[in-house]
Amino acid sequence: MTVPPDGSGLTESLPMPSGDLLIGGEWVAASDGGRREAVDPSTGTVLSTIAMATATDVGHAVTAAAEAFPAWRDWPAQRRRDVLFELARLIEAHDLELGVMRSLETGAPLKRKRGSSLAAEWTKYYAGWVDKIEGVTAAPYSGASLSYTLPEPYGVIAALTPWNGGIVSAAMKVVPALAAGNSVVLKPAELSPLGPLRFGELCLEAGLPPGVLNVVTGGAEAGAALVADARVGKISFTGGGATARRILAAAAANLTPVILELGGKSANVVFPDADLDLAATTSVQTALANLAGQGCVLPTRLLVHTDVYDEVARKVTAMAQAIKVGRPFDEGVQMGPVIDSANCDRILDVIAGATRNGAGELLTGGERIGGDLAGGYFVAPTVFGDVDNRSELAQREIFGPVLSIVRFTDEDHAVELANDTEYGLGGLVFTGDVDRAHRVAKRLSAGYVGVNAFPPMPPNAPFGGVKQSGFGREGGREGLFEFLQIKNVFVGLT
Ligand code: NAD
Repeated sequence: MTVPPDGSGLTESLPMPSGDLLIGGEWVAASDGGRREAVDPSTGTVLSTIAMATATDVGHAVTAAAEAFPAWRDWPAQRRRDVLFELARLIEAHDLELGVMRSLETGAPLKRKRGSSLAAEWTKYYAGWVDKIEGVTAAPYSGASLSYTLPEPYGVIAALTPWNGGIVSAAMKVVPALAAGNSVVLKPAELSPLGPLRFGELCLEAGLPPGVLNVVTGGAEAGAALVADARVGKISFTGGGATARRILAAAAANLTPVILELGGKSANVVFPDADLDLAATTSVQTALANLAGQGCVLPTRLLVHTDVYDEVARKVTAMAQAIKVGRPFDEGVQMGPVIDSANCDRILDVIAGATRNGAGELLTGGERIGGDLAGGYFVAPTVFGDVDNRSELAQREIFGPVLSIVRFTDEDHAVELANDTEYGLGGLVFTGDVDRAHRVAKRLSAGYVGVNAFPPMPPNAPFGGVKQSGFGREGGREGLFEFLQIKNVFVGLT
């Protein structure tokens, strides 16, 4: 496909999903006929409508997954592996189209060279694991015996993904679950369902048997029905803390194990010996331009040593002002809109409150962008300086293009400020001192730390949080074994 510079006509030329539910290999309407509009946040126009699954539909999806599970589990490993490699090939073959779909439904600038390659990378990585899953043989403990372990799938996995990840979130959860031999019911966020639905189509095309992956689009009602279903073997949820608490309460009723990937307020700690241009550029690209700040792990608190504070604040402010904000298909655009009207209003309220309360000094931004972009939900890249780390501005996850700069005096102070948050997802350290880099990385209360770089979510590294950023890991061997339970077999030898 070709993408016109203004994106016009794309919804007509794209193979858009029907917007129905994928249950047992069939595309079906919601049982009560309910549908929701999928809206392009860069223009406010309706892209298509999407089925809203009822609790009954979710029950059917779990039944389909439970029925499909035993045969899928028992497939020879190389057959399961080959289906997942074929899926990766299809994702790559449809890379641009998937990237366009993501840009349409989230407003994120189109990466013309790699629309969805991260999803393909995660798929290939876990496809490669399928025929390498091994248990261990233990030393005989008492008498003549043989003791060994069998890693076994849980059965039906409930996968609940957030709107900012689209097909990448789907691949990060669904593919390792399938690689481990589970079946899956995927409940994508209601705000960006098109990518996950297209992912479902590609899974069928790749040869995944009917019912092994089911996709039920819908809202809180569908999610609640899914996590309360006693037939679910494990829940993997990515989203906000309030929803996570409701999920844990539902899971408690059935003692269903849970993986939680939640929010963050990650610190980016910049020492005077750092490459300050690199630190400032990384800060602006990740905390502001990238996804308009709507990412769990983005370093939204910039902690700067007082000796270089003025220089870094000046650079960051100038770079924020130079970000090209626009529609996802505009030439050279670096930052898109926020996801919807409600979130746009909420972010502007947080900014107004912080300005009123003197949480910090507004250095740039703070307003909604009008003019040609008035139809979409565009918030100007916003930077606050000299922010009080205890203020709501520095403590609360804003999920919008708002960066808080906080001053520190020495290494201990930096670590204290970085860890002084309820969250513990990510952290960055910029320094030219190798010893300090490792020392601070070790002292940060976070699951994911980058030194002089923002980690690009490689599939072979475990990703996840500590404290209120959740528990469990996605990525790497750890991410695979989240979807396996270990059985021990003890054989008495006579
Ligand atoms: P959210 O918690 O509002 O919603 C997530 C999903 O949960 C939605 O699909 C929703 O329909 C569903 N849901 C709502 N109520 C439910 C219930 N009672 N039971 C089951 N499901 C229910 O989050 P969001 O707005 O989609 O995403 C933003 C949040 O996600 C932020 O906090 C962000 O930090 C977090 N996030 C975390 C990661 C990570 O990997 N750590 C990645 C991306 C986003």
